[in-house]
Amino acid sequence: MSDWTHRHVLDLAAFSLEDYTTVLELAQRFRAMPTSGARKLPALQGKLVTTLFFEPSTRTRSSFELAAKRLSADVQSFSPSSSSLSKGESLLDTVRTYVAMGADLLVVRHRCTGVPASLARDLDLSGDRVAVLNGGDGLHSHPSQGLLDLFSLARHFSPDSPTPAALRGRRIVIVGDILHSRVARSNLWALTACGADVVLCGPATLLPQAFTAFVDAPPPGQACDPVANRGRITIERNLDQALAGADAVMTLRLQKERMNQNLLTSLESYHRAYGLTHARLQACAASVPVLHPGPVNRGVEMSGALLDDPSHALVEEQVTNGIPIRMALLYLLAAG
Ligand code: ASP
Repeated sequence: MSDWTHRHVLDLAAFSLEDYTTVLELAQRFRAMPTSGARKLPALQGKLVTTLFFEPSTRTRSSFELAAKRLSADVQSFSPSSSSLSKGESLLDTVRTYVAMGADLLVVRHRCTGVPASLARDLDLSGDRVAVLNGGDGLHSHPSQGLLDLFSLARHFSPDSPTPAALRGRRIVIVGDILHSRVARSNLWALTACGADVVLCGPATLLPQAFTAFVDAPPPGQACDPVANRGRITIERNLDQALAGADAVMTLRLQKERMNQNLLTSLESYHRAYGLTHARLQACAASVPVLHPGPVNRGVEMSGALLDDPSHALVEEQVTNGIPIRMALLYLLAAG
């Protein structure tokens, strides 16, 4: 195992190429293990993983919980609607309650940017040896999703050796609501770190031009970029041109819950301009993989026929790959 130094996993901007290699190698080992019969590994026996999701989740939360169980951890989950938050308890006090019950690892999702990082800071300051994993915060970051997308792509390009090198020089198109997507932001850090060139595609209201400089400097609070040479980010507004020569395409949900103004004329016109269909993919290689983090709006981001076509859609594969990726993250943080 390489030199893993992270106490928490909050943002992929802090990941070096070695970190990606470590996570992908471990995930590949966990992925190869049988999921039936004697399927539990004892690695996290005696550890308590607590999932604190202050925002809805279908995949991430259950995937983390399953990952923790496959490593023999105890799992406890918090649900905000039936908690004392509604009685006025502060978020930090709620989290401290779970720490006092013995949580070793906290997986935190919140609709506000920065909540997992500020909890990690507060817990570090008070000397609590608990690790925080960001399960998605606002528009900012969704590290486990970025990693499972990277793993899915690396396995697609290089099934026997899914390392970051499998991504070098690839043209990866990300289309859709980039502005509101923490998944896109995490993918930008991960894909460019591995040397992929990312083409972003979407209307100006959902994809500001400034995104071309997204990875040019580390985020505030991070002294330097741990990756020396990143792939490039370009913007192409026309989907057919973006798709020409693409090695993979990722499409993103329109995040209506995060839009506070009318950014679209209609869903039909959005689908006509930016929706993925079989016809649209003719500009790419016959087997080009299509990714979506879910949940999918059928007929908006992509046609139902494309979503149901296993020769293109990697969506279920992404869900499957999420479990070994999250096992790898829990394992590394618990060992640390
Ligand atoms: N499930 C992903 C997220 O939580 C993507 C989405 O909601 O569209 O960010």
